[in-house]
Amino acid sequence: MVTGRAGAARLLVLAALLATAPAKGADEGLAASGRRMLADVRALTSEAFGGRRAGTRGADDAAAFVASSFRASGLLPAGKTGSYLQPFSFVDGATPGPGNRLSAAVGAPVSRGYRLDEDFRPLALSASGTVEADVAFCGYGIASPETGYDDYAGVDVRGKAVLVLRGGPGGDDPDSPFARHFPLRAKLDLARRNGAAALLVAPARGDALVSLRTDFDVEPSALPGVSVRRRVAEALFAGSGTTLAALQARIDGAAKPAPLPLPRARVTLAVDLVPHRATTANVAGLVPGRDPVANRQAVLFGAHYDHLGDGGAGSLDRSPSRRIHPGADDNASGTALLLELARTLSRRRGELKRSALLVAFGAEEEGSLGARVLAGAPPVPLGDVAAVICLDMVGRLPREGLIVRGTGTSPRFRDLVASAAREAGLAVRPFDPAWGPSDHAVFLAAGRPVLFLFTGYHRDYHRPSDTADRLDVSGMERIHRFLEVIALRLLGDAEPLPFSRVPGDGVPARAR
Ligand SMILES: [Zn+2]
Repeated sequence: MVTGRAGAARLLVLAALLATAPAKGADEGLAASGRRMLADVRALTSEAFGGRRAGTRGADDAAAFVASSFRASGLLPAGKTGSYLQPFSFVDGATPGPGNRLSAAVGAPVSRGYRLDEDFRPLALSASGTVEADVAFCGYGIASPETGYDDYAGVDVRGKAVLVLRGGPGGDDPDSPFARHFPLRAKLDLARRNGAAALLVAPARGDALVSLRTDFDVEPSALPGVSVRRRVAEALFAGSGTTLAALQARIDGAAKPAPLPLPRARVTLAVDLVPHRATTANVAGLVPGRDPVANRQAVLFGAHYDHLGDGGAGSLDRSPSRRIHPGADDNASGTALLLELARTLSRRRGELKRSALLVAFGAEEEGSLGARVLAGAPPVPLGDVAAVICLDMVGRLPREGLIVRGTGTSPRFRDLVASAAREAGLAVRPFDPAWGPSDHAVFLAAGRPVLFLFTGYHRDYHRPSDTADRLDVSGMERIHRFLEVIALRLLGDAEPLPFSRVPGDGVPARAR
């Protein structure tokens, strides 16, 4: 149990902290672990941290808060050069330079010039450079092995400018089986892997150009890419015997690709961008295992601490003014659970054979950038990471129970999850596949056994109303007990944890 040895001194400090917090009925009836987690959620969601958008001071302050909590729990620093922080920079937008051009010739020697911001706009993650190329239409620019759908099948796009639509067949619903392929950087990467020379992206619905502030990555793409209006895309089909609208309707209707070379169309494209770089950090701490052999292996426990700041990219808020998005469930809840797990494991370090690596990831909302940076420069070699357990949005436990994805990624996981749930008195909904749009997907792609804990979406998701008072902290206490049982089992022995790939969970490794 969690509450076992909380010292009197700590309780006094806690009482002093809580005395300054606003009086809340929610505190009553909570165990010590619940009160500590609620205090951490309140700190992380406080106005001082401004919604924790990666690249802002609020996120830096939140990272420092996590680091000081790791230090107070006695974790060893596992970041860069003796610190808890693993800083990294990323592209969070771009400014157009003077040299952006797009023109197209369709079945005629005379080309038509288009206007920047009226007809086209470079994608924020585009490479700068000039391309002159024939055009091929490739549907939504998606190849999805898990559904057998491939917009590039049977069409040679080497050296061509590929025209694709945003979103996926049937819409851009986040629950679509194609959702993981919606990000523009995924479409840029796939076009590049297929040998394309450039990417043109047209809206599937509406007619907006893509903003230069909606896409993020650690590095820009190596491929030039622009977003174009519908009329620019439609014009490339002149003389082809069909239209963009007709092909889109065909793809949407049958969820079947309909790629089409457009040999009459030739585009000339010049992209001239100055990328913006922002910096943020992962926060990493280690509880070393006691077994001199097994402690080279680690189990990674991760939760992202960043959120959406005062709105902008990723926000679902429709109000005209910017408001702080506190992100209590997403993901102050997971961060608070991680900090409580740090206290628990530190107290019970004598029982650990393997080491525990605890990581609060930065820039998850920008596309799991922190997880990708960590996987590229891991504090423990990835081959020695026996399992990865990620928490993202675990503050609103529904009656049906906690969602646990990834029980099929190692043969031990089904029994482990079931027995830990019994011991913790927690209802769980296990799913064998692990994939989902969060940090754990990075480690799944790297072939690590992965469990992902999640209490579900709700109407406050990515809105300013995702506040601390709406969390179910007693549910978080139960999730913590469950997590504690799992952690102590996985850390307390050195039994191998083989990885198994769940059919349909086959995430292609990203190009980078
Ligand atoms: Zn989120």
